[in-house]
Amino acid sequence: MTKKRMMVIGAGQMGSGIAQVFAQAGLEVKFNDISEDALIQGRKGIENRLRRAVDKGRITEADMRDVLGRITTTTDLKEASDCDLIIEAVVEKMDVKTNVFRQLDEIAPEHAILATNTSSLPITDIAAATNRPSQVIGMHFMNPVPVMKLVEIIRAIQTSDATYEAVEAMTVKLEKTPVEVEDFPGFVSNRILMPMINEAIYTVYEGVATPEDVDAVMKLGMNHPMGPLTLADFIGLDTCLSIMEVLHEGFGDSKYRPCPLLRKYVSAGWLGKKSGRGFYIYD
Ligand code: NAD
Repeated sequence: MTKKRMMVIGAGQMGSGIAQVFAQAGLEVKFNDISEDALIQGRKGIENRLRRAVDKGRITEADMRDVLGRITTTTDLKEASDCDLIIEAVVEKMDVKTNVFRQLDEIAPEHAILATNTSSLPITDIAAATNRPSQVIGMHFMNPVPVMKLVEIIRAIQTSDATYEAVEAMTVKLEKTPVEVEDFPGFVSNRILMPMINEAIYTVYEGVATPEDVDAVMKLGMNHPMGPLTLADFIGLDTCLSIMEVLHEGFGDSKYRPCPLLRKYVSAGWLGKKSGRGFYIYD
């Protein structure tokens, strides 16, 4: 099955990267958000990244124009009515996502595949909110999307082989590497990564070391390219907290309890890079 017309829903850091890689692979992309401002910022982010690629000689001015020409922005979800593949990348909240999927189920053509970029929420539950559960799947891109090669493809218990194969083929077309994962809390990536980030936050909370020193230990001692607190700021502390809550609730195991300091930062609106302050301060 060749998927040609796409919609990406959510113009935050992930949606903006996802729209870019689809357009770079030659596909027409409708880029949707409830916020006009988010769409302007999301598109600006794409333009800035492409401009840097032109400056470095990786693509031409004409390539940049072509890619941008394939992306149209809209706040109207009804424009999904002629799309073959729709990828949702809205905030990591189950009620918001199921609401989007219920609407998409009404709007999108019968054959369309509905994918979610959720970091941790159960794909099986999202699929069950629609009347086409066999066509619902997790397509978990990594941040920053244009750079990172991995896409975790998560099968809900209802996902058909045809849906899996279509999404796997699409991932290869994007020049990314698909890895098949079953639907359990946090999948593979965040089941392993987030407890490490949460433990790094506990280390700061308990006064064992400063954020700078925690990051230095993991970078210089473990050869991580980025320290866990820098990475947490980059991911978004609200997203980190949501994922820890999913792990905690999903496994019912206290080892996944979110650090109180993480909760406090999120309550204060210190969400990391995107809000200008997290464990570090950003311009
Ligand atoms: P973000 O906060 O940067 O952006 C979310 C966007 O969703 C905002 O622009 C918001 O206006 C929009 N939105 C909210 N409700 C909407 C609706 N009903 N319809 C349309 N748009 C709506 O978030 P993000 O970091 O881009 O994360 C998006 C998703 O990707 C989450 O599920 C997250 O868990 C997942 N994810 C995040 C990362 C990461 O590193 N941040 C990595 C992989 C996956």
